[in-house]
Amino acid sequence: MTTNDLAAYWMPFTANRAFKARPRMFSGAAGMYLTTPEGRKILDATSGLYCVNAGHGRAQITAAIREAAGVLDFAPPFQYGTPQAFALASRLAALAPGDLDHVLLATSGSEAVETALKVALAYHRARGDGARTRLIGRERGYHGVGFGGISVGGMVANRRAFGTMLAGVDHMPATYNRAEQAFSTGEPEWGAHLADELTRLIGLHDASTIAAVIVEPVAGSTGCLPPPKGYLERLRKLTADAGILLIFDEVITAFGRLGYAFAAERYGIVPDMICFAKGVSNGAVPLSGVMVRGGVHEALMSGPDAREPYGIELFHGHTYSGHPLSVAAGLATLDLYRDEDLFQRARGMEAEFAAIMMSLRGSRHVADIRPIGLMCGIDLTPAEGKPGAKGYALIEETFHSQDLYVRVAGDTMIVAPSLVASVGDISAIRDRIAKALSAI
Ligand code: PLP
Repeated sequence: MTTNDLAAYWMPFTANRAFKARPRMFSGAAGMYLTTPEGRKILDATSGLYCVNAGHGRAQITAAIREAAGVLDFAPPFQYGTPQAFALASRLAALAPGDLDHVLLATSGSEAVETALKVALAYHRARGDGARTRLIGRERGYHGVGFGGISVGGMVANRRAFGTMLAGVDHMPATYNRAEQAFSTGEPEWGAHLADELTRLIGLHDASTIAAVIVEPVAGSTGCLPPPKGYLERLRKLTADAGILLIFDEVITAFGRLGYAFAAERYGIVPDMICFAKGVSNGAVPLSGVMVRGGVHEALMSGPDAREPYGIELFHGHTYSGHPLSVAAGLATLDLYRDEDLFQRARGMEAEFAAIMMSLRGSRHVADIRPIGLMCGIDLTPAEGKPGAKGYALIEETFHSQDLYVRVAGDTMIVAPSLVASVGDISAIRDRIAKALSAI
C-alpha cells in the first residue's frame, strides 16, 4: 500500500496522474448543482454526463428506488419476470415513434449498443439472410466501450490500443466540416450528401453483406455534431431500400435532450432500433436498453431458434437486465418527464439556449459553437503541438475557480444542462465559461 489513499481506484476516461495530484471531488447534488466535500456548490453544465435530465436529487425517483429496494432487491431475469419490467417496457414502447414497440433492457449505453448490433446480426440470420454480417458506423461516432461499440465507433483514441476489433466494419465520414458550417445553430444546411457515402460502401461490398448502419442522430461525445438538414432522412431511405437495418444510438439524444422523447421523433424518422440509456433513469440507477421494431422482433420470434415452443429466441441478456431498482428509477423518471412536460419545456428553451451559447462567439480560444436542442459543442483552438492541453486547463479552471462543471473532451466543451435549467442558470453557465476562457 502507498500512503496515497487515492491510489487504488483506476478512474475511467480520466487523466489519473493529474487528477490524483489535484483532485476534483463531489459528495452531494441537488437541482442544478453538485457539491464538493468542502461544501462548494458547483453549477452542473452537463447534466452529470448527459443523464440527469430532470435535475439532480429528484425526490420522486429517490423514493421509488428506496421503496423497490425494500420490496424486491433482485429477481432472476432469465425465464422469470417482474410486473414492473413489463410496465416499463410498455411505457417506453408508447413513447417511441412508429412500431418501435419491443424493448430489451440492460444497464449501460455500451451494453445497449452491443445488444443492438447482435440483434441486427441475429435478425438477418433468422430470415435466412445470414451473409449480412457487415456493420457500418461513422467517423467521430461514439458507441461506448464494448468491442462492438469501439469497432463501429469512430474515435481513434478509443480504438488504437485495442487491436483489430470486429472484422467487417466500415465507417461513413463524419458530417462535420468547419469550413462549411462554423457557428451554425441547429442542423447545418451543408452536408446531406455525405449520407450517399453509404451508396459507395454498398457498391464496394454489396448490400447483401451489410447487416446494419449505426449512427448517433447528433454525435454527442465528439463535440455535439448535429446532422445536416436532410442527412438522416437520406440515410433512412438508403438503408430501407437496401434491406440494411438502421440503428439510432440515442444514449444522449433521447429523453428530452433534443426536445422530444427520442431524436427520431424530431426528425420524423423510424429507425429499426434505438439504443437508449442515461436519461431514461435520470442517471439515478444504471438503466439502458434497445427499442426494436415489430418486424425485427417478429423475425426472431419465428426464427430458427424458435422452432420449439420452449426455444429461447435470442441468446443474449444480462444478470441485471430489468433489475428492480433500475426499473423503479425508470418508471419514476418517465412519470416526472410527463408530469413536468420536460421535453416540451426543452423545446421551448432551445432558441434562447442557442442565443446564449452563441454569445460566446469572439471569446478567446473559441473556434466554433454548435447548439442544438439543449446541447452545445464549443471547440477551442488547440494549443500549438499540444492537443488537449487547453481542455485540461479548462477542466481545472472551471472546477477550482469558477464553481462550474462542464464536460470537456480533448479541446471541446459540451454544455448540456438539465431540462429544468432556467434562463438564469444557462446565463450563469455562459458567464462562468467566459471567465474561464479569459483565465486559461
Ligand atoms: N452511446 C452513446 C451515443 C453515448 O453517448 C454513450 C456514452 O456517453 C454510450 C453509447 C456508452 O454509454 P455507457 O457509458 O453507459 O456505456
